Amino acid sequence: MKVAIVNLGQIVSGDWRNPCAAGDTIVAEDGRITAVGVASAANVESADVVIDAGGMTAIPGLIDSHVHITFGDYTPRQRTVGFLESYLHGGTTTAISASEVHVPGRPSDPEGVKALALAAQRCFATYRPGGIRVIAGSVILEPGLTQQDFVEVAQRGVRLAKAGFGGVKSSYDYVPLVGDAKAAGLITTCHTGGSSIPGSGAITGDHLLAMHPHVSFHINGGPTAMPDRDFERVIRESEIALQVCTAGNLRTTLLCARLADELGAFDRFLIATDTPTGSGIMPLGMLYTIAHCASLTDLAPERVICAATGNNARVYGLDSGYLVAGKSADIVLIDAPDGGTQAAALAAIKHGDIAAIGAVITAGIPRFVGRSRNTPGTTRMARVVKSSVMQDFAPTAH
Ligand SMILES: [Zn+2]
Repeated sequence: MKVAIVNLGQIVSGDWRNPCAAGDTIVAEDGRITAVGVASAANVESADVVIDAGGMTAIPGLIDSHVHITFGDYTPRQRTVGFLESYLHGGTTTAISASEVHVPGRPSDPEGVKALALAAQRCFATYRPGGIRVIAGSVILEPGLTQQDFVEVAQRGVRLAKAGFGGVKSSYDYVPLVGDAKAAGLITTCHTGGSSIPGSGAITGDHLLAMHPHVSFHINGGPTAMPDRDFERVIRESEIALQVCTAGNLRTTLLCARLADELGAFDRFLIATDTPTGSGIMPLGMLYTIAHCASLTDLAPERVICAATGNNARVYGLDSGYLVAGKSADIVLIDAPDGGTQAAALAAIKHGDIAAIGAVITAGIPRFVGRSRNTPGTTRMARVVKSSVMQDFAPTAH
């Protein structure tokens, strides 16, 4: 399928160093972006589907790097089906598993956690609820796992490993496990802050610096934050990515955002939700944390959007997250919410309002054009002005 989006008011690139792209058109074909900014009339006319954005803003699809998936589009923690499809209506086009710890009766022995991660990875390899991409399969680090185990799961397609929910005596027991997982080529992540479930201990700056995982999960607290003084230490003394989550401590989210900016560490500042959890299912969580960071700090809204898109893509090695030719065509149209005080999406976000979503495209396929079933309505209207495919792109009613 070839899709052209015309009449864009603004384009956010996903690259925080150069967050705004010039032009008003994006073209995608066979799942990949082929042109950003300008396209010839012939190029647009040859598209199977042409979307008139009506002056809205295009951003890369949001990448939530902390989603508690299990199997299927179901969360046992909140006993709800269809949550991933609902997240797509909040602009999230990729959900990265924070490990499958919510699977009821999850195993804790080495063979069991390996099998669980591999099964999750396989079950979401091609399954896209509502069109969302799910990167699943994060092996839970448990005592007894060896480097050979990590090599084995990595060879079979598992990409992630997670410290923080294993049966260790001390959090320092994760140090050799994280080292072995990294050596096998896995992307390592670590719970940070006070324990979120009974029995798992607090993980603070000393533990993070000893382990040096690729990503500090919810460095702002999940949901309980580590000491304020540890944020600057982790930024200065490591290369650990700083993931802030909606279901955490907002004050330390803002503390971390300001420090990452001041200390030249914005490359590794990541926005995620850490949901579904006890805090609930939050289809608009990414939009809320973007609005909080942009409206309560001096950061420009387009830069904050890059922390929710390109920064996550870079740290996790994904081919999406940027509106650049060659990247996966995951594109979201956003606008100022109808009835608000601001004229365009970025001004609304800076004002503290969440963006309204007018269309979501994943893997080059429009999943809906018009109104998100979860955000407020858009001020402008995105419309399909030409289509030669058997699909109406209307949001499904729920
Ligand atoms: Zn979590």
